[in-house]
Amino acid sequence: STSTAIGTLENTFAETLEPLTVSWKGAAVPEPALLVLNEQLAESLGLNGDALRADDGIAVLSGAATPADANPVATAYAGHQFGGYASLLGDGRALLLGELIDNDGHRFDLQLKGSGPTPFSRGGDGFAVVGPMLREYLVSEAMHALGIPTTRSLSVVATGRDVNRDGAEPGAVLARIAASHLRVGTFELAARQRDLLAPLADYAIERHYPGLAHLPVSGDGNRYLAFLESVVERQAALVAQWMLVGFVHGVMNTDNTTISGETIDYGPCAFVDSYDPDTVFSSIDRGGRYRFGNQPAVLKWNLARFAETLLTLLDPTPDDAVTAATAALNTFDEHYDRHFQTGIAAKLGLDGTVDHALVDDLLTLMREHRVDWTGTFRALADDLRGSSARLDAMLPCEASAPWRGRWRAALAAVGRDDSQVADEMDRVNPIYIPRNHQVDAALRAATDGDLALFERLLDSVTHPFEQRTEWIDLAEPAPESFNTGFRTF
Ligand code: AMP
Ligand code: MG
Ligand code: MG
Repeated sequence: STSTAIGTLENTFAETLEPLTVSWKGAAVPEPALLVLNEQLAESLGLNGDALRADDGIAVLSGAATPADANPVATAYAGHQFGGYASLLGDGRALLLGELIDNDGHRFDLQLKGSGPTPFSRGGDGFAVVGPMLREYLVSEAMHALGIPTTRSLSVVATGRDVNRDGAEPGAVLARIAASHLRVGTFELAARQRDLLAPLADYAIERHYPGLAHLPVSGDGNRYLAFLESVVERQAALVAQWMLVGFVHGVMNTDNTTISGETIDYGPCAFVDSYDPDTVFSSIDRGGRYRFGNQPAVLKWNLARFAETLLTLLDPTPDDAVTAATAALNTFDEHYDRHFQTGIAAKLGLDGTVDHALVDDLLTLMREHRVDWTGTFRALADDLRGSSARLDAMLPCEASAPWRGRWRAALAAVGRDDSQVADEMDRVNPIYIPRNHQVDAALRAATDGDLALFERLLDSVTHPFEQRTEWIDLAEPAPESFNTGFRTF
Protein backbone atom coordinates (compact mmCIF):
# COMPACT_ATOMS: atom_id res chain seq x y z
CA SER A 1 0.00 0.00 0.00
CA THR A 2 1.01 3.64 -0.29
CA SER A 3 0.57 6.51 2.11
CA THR A 4 0.61 10.31 1.90
CA ALA A 5 1.63 10.79 5.58
CA ILE A 6 5.06 11.86 4.42
CA GLY A 7 5.30 14.47 1.68
CA THR A 8 7.64 14.34 -1.28
CA LEU A 9 10.83 12.38 -0.84
CA GLU A 10 13.75 13.07 -3.12
CA ASN A 11 16.12 10.41 -4.42
CA THR A 12 19.36 12.10 -5.39
CA PHE A 13 21.51 9.21 -4.17
CA ALA A 14 19.61 6.49 -6.05
CA GLU A 15 19.36 8.68 -9.15
CA THR A 16 23.06 9.59 -9.19
CA LEU A 17 24.48 6.23 -8.09
CA GLU A 18 21.86 3.77 -9.27
CA PRO A 19 24.31 0.81 -9.45
CA LEU A 20 24.80 1.10 -5.68
CA THR A 21 21.07 0.61 -5.03
CA VAL A 22 18.35 -2.01 -5.41
CA SER A 23 14.68 -0.94 -5.46
CA TRP A 24 13.00 -2.73 -2.60
CA LYS A 25 10.03 -2.72 -0.22
CA GLY A 26 9.53 -3.40 3.48
CA ALA A 27 8.00 -6.59 4.84
CA ALA A 28 4.37 -6.76 5.93
CA VAL A 29 3.81 -5.76 9.56
CA PRO A 30 1.37 -7.95 11.52
CA GLU A 31 0.44 -5.54 14.31
CA PRO A 32 2.11 -2.10 14.21
CA ALA A 33 2.25 -0.05 17.43
CA LEU A 34 4.07 3.27 17.73
CA LEU A 35 6.43 3.12 20.73
CA VAL A 36 8.08 6.53 20.42
CA LEU A 37 7.93 9.46 18.01
CA ASN A 38 10.32 12.41 17.92
CA GLU A 39 7.84 15.27 17.45
CA GLN A 40 10.49 18.00 17.43
CA LEU A 41 12.62 16.24 14.87
CA ALA A 42 9.55 15.54 12.73
CA GLU A 43 8.64 19.21 12.83
CA SER A 44 12.16 20.32 11.88
CA LEU A 45 11.88 18.04 8.84
CA GLY A 46 8.56 19.56 7.82
CA LEU A 47 6.66 16.40 8.78
CA ASN A 48 3.34 16.47 10.54
CA GLY A 49 3.36 14.66 13.91
CA ASP A 50 -0.38 13.96 13.82
CA ALA A 51 -0.13 12.47 10.34
CA LEU A 52 2.73 10.23 11.48
CA ARG A 53 0.72 9.06 14.51
CA ALA A 54 -2.25 8.10 12.33
CA ASP A 55 -2.50 4.56 10.98
CA ASP A 56 -1.07 5.34 7.57
CA GLY A 57 1.77 7.32 9.15
CA ILE A 58 2.68 4.39 11.37
CA ALA A 59 2.42 2.13 8.32
CA VAL A 60 5.16 4.18 6.61
CA LEU A 61 7.34 4.27 9.74
CA SER A 62 7.05 0.48 10.03
CA GLY A 63 7.91 -0.20 6.40
CA ALA A 64 4.54 -1.76 5.62
CA ALA A 65 3.43 1.12 3.37
CA THR A 66 5.47 3.06 0.85
CA PRO A 67 5.19 6.85 0.77
CA ALA A 68 3.35 7.91 -2.39
CA ASP A 69 5.77 8.43 -5.33
CA ALA A 70 8.76 7.18 -3.28
CA ASN A 71 11.31 4.74 -4.61
CA PRO A 72 12.76 2.99 -1.54
CA VAL A 73 16.10 1.27 -2.06
CA ALA A 74 18.50 -0.98 -0.22
CA THR A 75 22.04 0.32 -0.69
CA ALA A 76 25.20 -1.62 -1.40
CA TYR A 77 28.49 -1.20 0.42
CA ALA A 78 31.55 -3.19 1.42
CA GLY A 79 33.63 -2.86 4.57
CA HIS A 80 36.32 -4.03 6.93
CA GLN A 81 34.75 -5.79 9.89
CA PHE A 82 37.09 -6.34 12.86
CA GLY A 83 39.96 -5.80 10.42
CA GLY A 84 38.84 -8.32 7.77
CA TYR A 85 37.52 -7.26 4.36
CA ALA A 86 33.98 -8.15 3.27
CA SER A 87 33.49 -7.31 -0.42
CA LEU A 88 29.70 -6.94 -0.22
CA LEU A 89 27.70 -6.02 2.86
CA GLY A 90 24.88 -3.59 2.05
CA ASP A 91 21.59 -2.87 3.79
CA GLY A 92 20.68 -6.34 5.01
CA ARG A 93 17.86 -5.04 7.17
CA ALA A 94 17.44 -1.42 6.16
CA LEU A 95 15.63 0.61 3.50
CA LEU A 96 16.44 4.10 2.34
CA LEU A 97 12.96 5.57 1.85
CA GLY A 98 14.34 8.78 0.37
CA GLU A 99 15.58 12.25 1.23
CA LEU A 100 13.91 15.12 3.05
CA ILE A 101 14.90 18.78 3.14
CA ASP A 102 14.65 20.27 6.63
CA ASN A 103 13.47 23.73 7.57
CA ASP A 104 17.03 25.06 7.22
CA GLY A 105 17.41 23.64 3.72
CA HIS A 106 19.64 20.71 4.66
CA ARG A 107 19.16 17.32 3.00
CA PHE A 108 18.62 14.24 5.18
CA ASP A 109 18.11 10.54 4.50
CA LEU A 110 15.05 8.85 5.94
CA GLN A 111 16.00 5.23 6.50
CA LEU A 112 14.17 2.34 8.12
CA LYS A 113 16.15 -0.23 10.10
CA GLY A 114 14.60 -3.66 10.71
CA SER A 115 12.14 -3.47 7.82
CA GLY A 116 12.71 -7.00 6.55
CA PRO A 117 15.07 -9.03 4.36
CA THR A 118 16.73 -7.53 1.27
CA PRO A 119 19.04 -8.93 -1.42
CA PHE A 120 21.90 -8.04 0.99
CA SER A 121 20.62 -10.01 3.99
CA ARG A 122 23.03 -12.94 3.53
CA GLY A 123 22.45 -15.14 6.61
CA GLY A 124 20.44 -12.55 8.54
CA ASP A 125 16.66 -12.40 8.91
CA GLY A 126 16.37 -8.72 7.98
CA PHE A 127 14.57 -7.80 11.20
CA ALA A 128 15.35 -5.90 14.38
CA VAL A 129 13.92 -6.09 17.90
CA VAL A 130 12.50 -3.62 20.41
CA GLY A 131 15.43 -3.44 22.89
CA PRO A 132 18.22 -2.57 20.42
CA MET A 133 16.04 -0.18 18.38
CA LEU A 134 15.04 1.74 21.52
CA ARG A 135 18.71 1.71 22.55
CA GLU A 136 19.66 3.37 19.25
CA TYR A 137 16.84 5.90 19.68
CA LEU A 138 17.88 6.77 23.23
CA VAL A 139 21.64 6.91 22.71
CA SER A 140 21.54 8.78 19.39
CA GLU A 141 19.20 11.41 20.84
CA ALA A 142 21.44 11.67 23.93
CA MET A 143 24.48 12.21 21.71
CA HIS A 144 22.62 14.90 19.78
CA ALA A 145 21.69 16.66 23.02
CA LEU A 146 25.36 16.55 24.03
CA GLY A 147 26.19 18.41 20.82
CA ILE A 148 27.92 15.46 19.15
CA PRO A 149 27.35 14.94 15.40
CA THR A 150 25.10 11.92 15.01
CA THR A 151 22.31 10.34 13.05
CA ARG A 152 18.98 10.93 14.78
CA SER A 153 15.94 8.87 15.55
CA LEU A 154 12.46 9.73 14.35
CA SER A 155 10.48 6.77 15.67
CA VAL A 156 10.37 3.18 16.80
CA VAL A 157 7.38 1.05 15.82
CA ALA A 158 6.80 -2.39 17.32
CA THR A 159 5.74 -4.79 14.57
CA GLY A 160 3.97 -7.53 16.49
CA ARG A 161 6.29 -10.01 14.78
CA ASP A 162 8.25 -12.48 16.88
CA VAL A 163 11.90 -12.34 15.90
CA ASN A 164 14.22 -15.13 16.88
CA ARG A 165 17.26 -13.89 18.82
CA ASP A 166 18.14 -15.51 22.13
CA GLY A 167 14.61 -16.90 22.05
CA ALA A 168 11.64 -14.97 20.63
CA GLU A 169 11.86 -11.19 20.92
CA PRO A 170 9.32 -8.55 19.87
CA GLY A 171 10.18 -7.08 16.47
CA ALA A 172 10.59 -3.34 15.84
CA VAL A 173 11.53 -0.85 13.13
CA LEU A 174 13.56 2.30 13.75
CA ALA A 175 13.21 5.35 11.48
CA ARG A 176 16.62 6.97 11.26
CA ILE A 177 17.52 10.43 10.00
CA ALA A 178 21.06 10.90 8.72
CA ALA A 179 22.95 13.60 6.83
CA SER A 180 23.52 10.65 4.50
CA HIS A 181 24.35 6.97 4.70
CA LEU A 182 27.61 7.33 2.76
CA ARG A 183 30.29 5.40 4.60
CA VAL A 184 33.89 4.42 4.11
CA GLY A 185 32.46 1.05 3.03
CA THR A 186 30.54 2.73 0.18
CA PHE A 187 33.88 3.95 -1.18
CA GLU A 188 35.48 0.56 -0.63
CA LEU A 189 32.84 -0.95 -2.91
CA ALA A 190 33.00 1.84 -5.52
CA ALA A 191 36.80 1.71 -5.69
CA ARG A 192 36.45 -1.78 -7.15
CA GLN A 193 33.94 -0.58 -9.77
CA ARG A 194 36.15 2.09 -11.29
CA ASP A 195 33.54 4.16 -13.14
CA LEU A 196 31.56 4.69 -9.92
CA LEU A 197 34.34 6.17 -7.83
CA ALA A 198 34.53 9.72 -9.19
CA PRO A 199 30.72 10.14 -9.35
CA LEU A 200 30.48 8.90 -5.76
CA ALA A 201 33.22 11.24 -4.56
CA ASP A 202 31.65 14.18 -6.41
CA TYR A 203 28.26 13.34 -4.92
CA ALA A 204 29.74 13.18 -1.40
CA ILE A 205 31.56 16.48 -1.91
CA GLU A 206 28.41 18.18 -3.19
CA ARG A 207 26.37 16.88 -0.26
CA HIS A 208 28.78 17.20 2.66
CA TYR A 209 31.66 19.47 1.61
CA PRO A 210 30.06 21.85 -0.93
CA GLY A 211 32.81 24.39 -0.29
CA LEU A 212 35.20 22.08 -2.16
CA ALA A 213 33.07 21.64 -5.30
CA HIS A 214 34.74 24.55 -7.10
CA LEU A 215 38.18 22.89 -6.90
CA PRO A 216 39.62 21.19 -10.01
CA VAL A 217 39.23 17.43 -10.47
CA SER A 218 42.97 16.88 -10.96
CA GLY A 219 46.34 18.43 -10.46
CA ASP A 220 47.60 20.51 -7.56
CA GLY A 221 44.92 21.49 -5.10
CA ASN A 222 42.40 18.98 -6.50
CA ARG A 223 39.09 18.50 -4.77
CA TYR A 224 39.66 14.83 -3.90
CA LEU A 225 42.70 15.53 -1.76
CA ALA A 226 40.84 18.37 -0.04
CA PHE A 227 37.90 15.98 0.43
CA LEU A 228 40.13 13.38 2.10
CA GLU A 229 41.66 16.03 4.35
CA SER A 230 38.20 17.28 5.31
CA VAL A 231 36.84 13.83 6.18
CA VAL A 232 39.97 13.16 8.27
CA GLU A 233 39.42 16.41 10.14
CA ARG A 234 35.71 15.84 10.80
CA GLN A 235 36.23 12.29 11.96
CA ALA A 236 39.14 13.32 14.22
CA ALA A 237 36.86 15.93 15.81
CA LEU A 238 34.11 13.35 16.20
CA VAL A 239 36.17 10.71 17.97
CA ALA A 240 37.63 13.38 20.27
CA GLN A 241 34.06 14.20 21.30
CA TRP A 242 33.34 10.52 21.94
CA MET A 243 36.39 10.34 24.21
CA LEU A 244 35.36 13.47 26.10
CA VAL A 245 31.94 12.03 27.03
CA GLY A 246 33.15 8.46 27.53
CA PHE A 247 31.27 6.95 24.58
CA VAL A 248 32.31 3.49 23.37
CA HIS A 249 30.87 2.79 19.90
CA GLY A 250 31.55 -0.91 20.04
CA VAL A 251 31.60 -1.79 16.30
CA MET A 252 33.88 0.67 14.53
CA ASN A 253 33.92 -1.24 11.27
CA THR A 254 34.55 0.81 8.13
CA ASP A 255 30.91 0.38 7.11
CA ASN A 256 30.05 2.21 10.34
CA THR A 257 32.34 5.19 9.66
CA THR A 258 30.47 7.97 7.87
CA ILE A 259 31.69 10.42 5.25
CA SER A 260 29.55 13.17 6.83
CA GLY A 261 31.33 12.91 10.20
CA GLU A 262 28.22 11.76 12.04
CA THR A 263 28.18 8.96 14.58
CA ILE A 264 26.21 6.07 13.04
CA ASP A 265 24.93 2.59 13.79
CA TYR A 266 24.34 2.29 17.50
CA GLY A 267 24.70 -1.39 18.28
CA PRO A 268 26.53 -2.64 21.36
CA CYS A 269 27.53 0.92 22.30
CA ALA A 270 27.73 2.20 25.88
CA PHE A 271 29.15 4.99 28.03
CA VAL A 272 31.94 4.26 30.48
CA ASP A 273 31.04 4.65 34.13
CA SER A 274 34.47 4.65 35.73
CA TYR A 275 37.29 5.88 33.54
CA ASP A 276 39.31 3.03 32.03
CA PRO A 277 40.80 3.05 28.52
CA ASP A 278 40.58 -0.76 28.41
CA THR A 279 36.79 -0.75 28.71
CA VAL A 280 35.05 -3.14 26.29
CA PHE A 281 31.29 -3.67 26.46
CA SER A 282 30.50 -5.53 23.24
CA SER A 283 30.08 -9.27 23.61
CA ILE A 284 31.47 -9.81 20.10
CA ASP A 285 34.62 -7.69 20.57
CA ARG A 286 36.67 -10.49 22.11
CA GLY A 287 40.09 -9.05 21.24
CA GLY A 288 39.20 -5.58 22.53
CA ARG A 289 39.91 -4.01 19.13
CA TYR A 290 37.17 -1.44 19.74
CA ARG A 291 37.94 -0.77 23.43
CA PHE A 292 37.39 2.77 24.70
CA GLY A 293 41.02 3.92 24.56
CA ASN A 294 41.68 2.41 21.13
CA GLN A 295 38.97 4.37 19.30
CA PRO A 296 41.21 7.17 17.93
CA ALA A 297 43.73 4.63 16.58
CA VAL A 298 40.98 2.52 15.02
CA LEU A 299 39.39 5.53 13.41
CA LYS A 300 42.70 6.48 11.87
CA TRP A 301 43.00 2.91 10.57
CA ASN A 302 39.52 3.20 9.03
CA LEU A 303 40.50 6.50 7.42
CA ALA A 304 43.56 4.78 5.93
CA ARG A 305 41.15 2.34 4.25
CA PHE A 306 39.20 5.37 2.99
CA ALA A 307 42.36 7.05 1.68
CA GLU A 308 43.25 3.86 -0.24
CA THR A 309 39.94 4.01 -2.11
CA LEU A 310 40.73 7.54 -3.35
CA LEU A 311 44.30 6.94 -4.55
CA THR A 312 43.47 6.89 -8.27
CA LEU A 313 41.72 10.24 -7.92
CA LEU A 314 44.47 11.90 -5.90
CA ASP A 315 47.26 11.66 -8.45
CA PRO A 316 47.85 9.70 -11.69
CA THR A 317 51.33 8.73 -10.47
CA PRO A 318 50.83 5.98 -7.86
CA ASP A 319 53.79 6.99 -5.68
CA ASP A 320 52.65 10.61 -5.60
CA ALA A 321 49.12 9.52 -4.73
CA VAL A 322 50.42 7.51 -1.79
CA THR A 323 52.57 10.41 -0.60
CA ALA A 324 49.61 12.80 -0.73
CA ALA A 325 47.28 10.33 0.99
CA THR A 326 49.81 9.64 3.74
CA ALA A 327 50.30 13.33 4.42
CA ALA A 328 46.55 13.83 4.64
CA LEU A 329 46.15 10.88 7.00
CA ASN A 330 48.95 12.08 9.20
CA THR A 331 47.04 15.27 9.97
CA PHE A 332 44.67 13.07 11.99
CA ASP A 333 46.83 13.11 15.14
CA GLU A 334 47.17 16.87 15.36
CA HIS A 335 43.46 17.40 14.69
CA TYR A 336 42.56 14.80 17.30
CA ASP A 337 44.92 16.23 19.91
CA ARG A 338 43.72 19.77 19.30
CA HIS A 339 40.06 18.80 19.67
CA PHE A 340 40.67 16.60 22.68
CA GLN A 341 42.88 19.13 24.48
CA THR A 342 40.49 22.01 23.81
CA GLY A 343 37.59 19.89 25.01
CA ILE A 344 39.27 18.65 28.18
CA ALA A 345 40.45 22.20 28.95
CA ALA A 346 36.83 23.37 28.80
CA LYS A 347 35.74 20.47 31.02
CA LEU A 348 38.31 21.68 33.58
CA GLY A 349 37.28 25.32 33.31
CA LEU A 350 40.48 26.31 31.54
CA ASP A 351 40.56 28.32 28.33
CA GLY A 352 42.33 27.11 25.23
CA THR A 353 45.35 24.96 25.87
CA VAL A 354 45.97 23.02 29.02
CA ASP A 355 49.19 21.52 30.34
CA HIS A 356 49.31 17.90 29.06
CA ALA A 357 50.75 16.65 32.34
CA LEU A 358 47.80 18.14 34.26
CA VAL A 359 45.38 16.17 32.06
CA ASP A 360 47.42 12.96 32.07
CA ASP A 361 47.80 13.00 35.84
CA LEU A 362 44.06 13.50 36.32
CA LEU A 363 43.36 10.55 34.00
CA THR A 364 45.82 8.41 35.95
CA LEU A 365 44.16 9.37 39.24
CA MET A 366 40.71 8.67 37.85
CA ARG A 367 41.78 5.30 36.55
CA GLU A 368 43.45 4.29 39.81
CA HIS A 369 40.44 5.21 41.90
CA ARG A 370 37.92 3.97 39.33
CA VAL A 371 35.94 7.19 39.65
CA ASP A 372 32.88 8.03 37.66
CA TRP A 373 33.93 9.90 34.50
CA THR A 374 30.79 12.01 34.10
CA GLY A 375 30.34 12.80 37.80
CA THR A 376 33.94 13.84 38.44
CA PHE A 377 33.73 16.98 36.30
CA ARG A 378 30.52 18.10 38.02
CA ALA A 379 32.17 17.44 41.40
CA LEU A 380 35.17 19.55 40.37
CA ALA A 381 32.85 22.47 39.60
CA ASP A 382 31.13 22.02 42.98
CA ASP A 383 34.56 22.05 44.60
CA LEU A 384 35.24 25.42 42.95
CA ARG A 385 32.02 26.72 44.52
CA GLY A 386 33.32 25.69 47.92
CA SER A 387 31.53 22.37 48.38
CA SER A 388 34.14 19.66 48.19
CA ALA A 389 32.20 16.79 49.77
CA ARG A 390 31.37 15.06 46.48
CA LEU A 391 34.87 15.34 45.12
CA ASP A 392 36.37 14.15 48.42
CA ALA A 393 34.13 11.10 48.33
CA MET A 394 35.26 10.26 44.80
CA LEU A 395 38.95 11.09 44.93
CA PRO A 396 40.39 10.75 48.45
CA CYS A 397 42.09 13.97 49.54
CA GLU A 398 45.45 12.38 50.34
CA ALA A 399 45.73 11.03 46.81
CA SER A 400 44.33 13.99 44.92
CA ALA A 401 45.50 17.03 46.92
CA PRO A 402 48.65 17.64 44.84
CA TRP A 403 46.68 17.46 41.59
CA ARG A 404 43.92 19.67 42.98
CA GLY A 405 46.55 22.22 43.99
CA ARG A 406 47.99 22.28 40.46
CA TRP A 407 44.52 22.61 38.93
CA ARG A 408 43.69 25.53 41.23
CA ALA A 409 47.01 27.15 40.31
CA ALA A 410 46.23 26.79 36.61
CA LEU A 411 42.82 28.40 37.18
CA ALA A 412 44.39 31.18 39.23
CA ALA A 413 46.82 31.87 36.40
CA VAL A 414 43.83 32.53 34.13
CA GLY A 415 42.46 34.65 36.94
CA ARG A 416 38.70 34.42 36.43
CA ASP A 417 35.98 34.35 39.01
CA ASP A 418 35.58 30.83 40.49
CA SER A 419 31.81 30.74 40.47
CA GLN A 420 31.68 31.93 36.87
CA VAL A 421 34.20 29.25 35.85
CA ALA A 422 32.15 26.63 37.70
CA ASP A 423 29.01 27.68 35.80
CA GLU A 424 30.86 27.42 32.51
CA MET A 425 32.10 23.94 33.42
CA ASP A 426 28.52 22.91 34.13
CA ARG A 427 27.56 23.98 30.63
CA VAL A 428 29.98 21.50 29.03
CA ASN A 429 29.92 18.66 31.59
CA PRO A 430 26.67 16.68 31.42
CA ILE A 431 24.82 15.46 34.49
CA TYR A 432 22.77 12.82 32.67
CA ILE A 433 24.16 10.33 30.19
CA PRO A 434 22.59 6.99 29.25
CA ARG A 435 24.04 4.97 32.12
CA ASN A 436 24.30 1.28 31.46
CA HIS A 437 22.31 0.06 34.45
CA GLN A 438 19.52 2.55 33.68
CA VAL A 439 19.48 1.71 29.97
CA ASP A 440 19.43 -1.98 30.79
CA ALA A 441 16.47 -1.63 33.15
CA ALA A 442 14.57 0.66 30.76
CA LEU A 443 15.01 -1.65 27.76
CA ARG A 444 14.03 -4.74 29.73
CA ALA A 445 10.81 -3.08 30.90
CA ALA A 446 10.09 -1.75 27.39
CA THR A 447 10.54 -5.20 25.90
CA ASP A 448 7.92 -6.38 28.40
CA GLY A 449 5.60 -3.57 27.26
CA ASP A 450 6.22 -0.90 29.93
CA LEU A 451 7.73 2.29 28.47
CA ALA A 452 7.67 4.44 31.63
CA LEU A 453 11.35 3.97 32.54
CA PHE A 454 12.42 4.50 28.92
CA GLU A 455 10.45 7.75 28.65
CA ARG A 456 11.88 9.11 31.90
CA LEU A 457 15.44 8.20 30.91
CA LEU A 458 14.96 9.69 27.43
CA ASP A 459 13.69 12.91 28.96
CA SER A 460 16.77 13.21 31.20
CA VAL A 461 19.44 12.32 28.64
CA THR A 462 17.95 14.73 26.12
CA HIS A 463 18.32 17.49 28.77
CA PRO A 464 21.80 16.47 29.90
CA PHE A 465 22.78 19.76 31.55
CA GLU A 466 19.47 20.53 33.28
CA GLN A 467 19.63 19.65 36.98
CA ARG A 468 16.28 18.36 38.25
CA THR A 469 15.62 16.98 41.70
CA GLU A 470 13.27 14.30 40.38
CA TRP A 471 16.15 12.90 38.30
CA ILE A 472 18.65 12.73 41.16
CA ASP A 473 18.93 8.91 40.92
CA LEU A 474 19.70 9.14 37.18
CA ALA A 475 22.97 10.96 37.88
CA GLU A 476 24.27 8.18 40.14
CA PRO A 477 26.87 5.73 38.84
CA ALA A 478 25.96 2.07 38.67
CA PRO A 479 26.35 -0.05 41.78
CA GLU A 480 29.75 -1.77 41.66
CA SER A 481 28.05 -5.15 41.32
CA PHE A 482 26.41 -4.10 38.04
CA ASN A 483 29.58 -3.22 36.18
CA THR A 484 31.63 -6.32 36.63
CA GLY A 485 31.34 -8.10 33.32
CA PHE A 486 28.56 -5.89 31.92
CA ARG A 487 28.13 -6.79 28.23
CA THR A 488 26.14 -5.30 25.40
CA PHE A 489 24.74 -7.21 22.40
P1 AMP B 1 26.24 -3.72 11.62
O1 AMP B 1 27.23 -4.49 12.42
O2 AMP B 1 24.95 -3.46 12.33
O3 AMP B 1 26.83 -2.46 11.08
O4 AMP B 1 25.83 -4.62 10.38
C1 AMP B 1 26.78 -5.18 9.51
C2 AMP B 1 26.09 -5.81 8.32
O5 AMP B 1 25.22 -6.86 8.74
C3 AMP B 1 25.22 -4.86 7.51
O6 AMP B 1 25.35 -5.25 6.16
C4 AMP B 1 23.84 -5.14 8.03
O7 AMP B 1 22.83 -4.81 7.09
C5 AMP B 1 23.90 -6.63 8.27
N1 AMP B 1 22.94 -7.10 9.27
C6 AMP B 1 22.97 -6.88 10.59
N2 AMP B 1 21.92 -7.48 11.20
C7 AMP B 1 21.20 -8.08 10.24
C8 AMP B 1 19.99 -8.86 10.22
N3 AMP B 1 19.31 -9.15 11.33
N4 AMP B 1 19.56 -9.31 9.02
C9 AMP B 1 20.24 -9.05 7.89
N5 AMP B 1 21.36 -8.33 7.84
C10 AMP B 1 21.85 -7.85 8.99
MG1 MG C 1 26.39 -0.91 10.03
MG1 MG D 1 23.70 -2.13 12.27
